[in-house]
Amino acid sequence: MKDQSPNSWEARADAHSFYGFTDLPTIENRGATVLTHGRGPYVFDVHGRQFLDANSGLWNMVAGFDHAGLAQAAKDQYDRFPGYHAFFGRMSDQTVMLSEKLVEVSPFESGKVFYTNSGSEANDTMVKMLWFLHGSEGHDQRRKIITRKNAYHGVTAVSASMTGKPYNSVFGLPLPGFLHLTCPHYWREGQPGETEAQFTARLAAELEEMILREGADTIAGFFAEPVLGAGGVIPPPEGYFQALQPILQKYGIPLISDEVICGFGRTGHTWGCEAYGFVPDAIISSKNLTAGYFPMGAVILGPQLTQRLQAASEAIEEFPHGFTASGHPVGSAIALKAIDVIMNEGLAENVRRLTPYFEAHMQRLLENPNIGEARGKGLMGALEAVQDKGSKTPFAAELSVSERIANTCTDHGLICRPLGQSIVLCPAFIFTESHIDEMFEKLEAALKQVFREVA
Ligand SMILES: *Cc1c(COP(=O)(O)O)cnc(C)c1O
Repeated sequence: MKDQSPNSWEARADAHSFYGFTDLPTIENRGATVLTHGRGPYVFDVHGRQFLDANSGLWNMVAGFDHAGLAQAAKDQYDRFPGYHAFFGRMSDQTVMLSEKLVEVSPFESGKVFYTNSGSEANDTMVKMLWFLHGSEGHDQRRKIITRKNAYHGVTAVSASMTGKPYNSVFGLPLPGFLHLTCPHYWREGQPGETEAQFTARLAAELEEMILREGADTIAGFFAEPVLGAGGVIPPPEGYFQALQPILQKYGIPLISDEVICGFGRTGHTWGCEAYGFVPDAIISSKNLTAGYFPMGAVILGPQLTQRLQAASEAIEEFPHGFTASGHPVGSAIALKAIDVIMNEGLAENVRRLTPYFEAHMQRLLENPNIGEARGKGLMGALEAVQDKGSKTPFAAELSVSERIANTCTDHGLICRPLGQSIVLCPAFIFTESHIDEMFEKLEAALKQVFREVA
């Protein structure tokens, strides 16, 4: 399967490019997949092979790979004004309009937006905002950040410290002062005999104990994805945010909703917080924000944090932070178009329409004796492979079951993602029933083949 010639795209990829989050032995055996273009939800490689991308790129290419309107919005803006910053009181008209739009569609009655180039930088920026405003208010010691194990908030030194994954230990992370609560995964973390409501109550008690142990006046903020994404698509247990939010409020700790995956339609709602019935103090957005057509992230502050950051900034005459490309006019024009496409051209509606169909397929696969859990929300889901369903025993790690399933899928023209022992599906919002059928047919064939091999 791997083209061995030194001039092959696979060899050239290996020669001069690093891969992110890539199992190098797999690449050694199989070679890289070098892609040239996409059509709708499909991508094509240098050999002309076609793949249905069940992960919409990295969750973000929700309008597909050839949306004419998005490409046109980019071209038009490149012709009009191809780049500018948002420093020194200057910013593009597109940036002004995008901020108005983001506040309008946010759950906030009023607010303000700060731009970055990625989700990691947006989380990083939010942490700096909290440190800055607590410091300005005379609470220099309010610096600790609480997140959850298995959470994914990015890869910069600060956002990786927020990310609750064991792999960050290779960098000597997390930094001091980044604290991680139990992953809110009832199926895996619930104790024998514990109901979902009792599980939620236990996690809420754990949060309060942590706050009291550390000292409320040392905590800067709490960040959470409404549904953990790269942790394996883990929806919260019943009543989770309703149980946690009053505790955070009691101790004056801002609740930040990391909506990088959930935002703009993935759950069938504009925001994940909306899907779970809570209003946070700020929202972190990226990925779908531009439907993946431009690197961009945004911090959207609700009214209280807006007012507090404004006051802190006025006290020293500025907020000393920003990226060269913050609020890029082309990114802003694309984001404006992407929001319109998602919210007004039927994409979010298609997510809501397809969700029951998607869920029915997931439930059917749960009949497989080696699928322990089928979970999800809206158009994202994960299937958890288990060696033994009754005891929820995972397969031996050296079997690399989920990687084998994903590789087998790739061989059959389907891209999906192994995460731990689960397979993640997060298709583009332009999927049809027949794309869903194709996705599950290919996945089911791969599951059968791999489970037969490892049984
Ligand atoms: C992807 C992701 C990030 C990081 O975004 P990058 O653009 O990759 O830096 C942060 N939070 C969540 C929830 C994400 O899924």
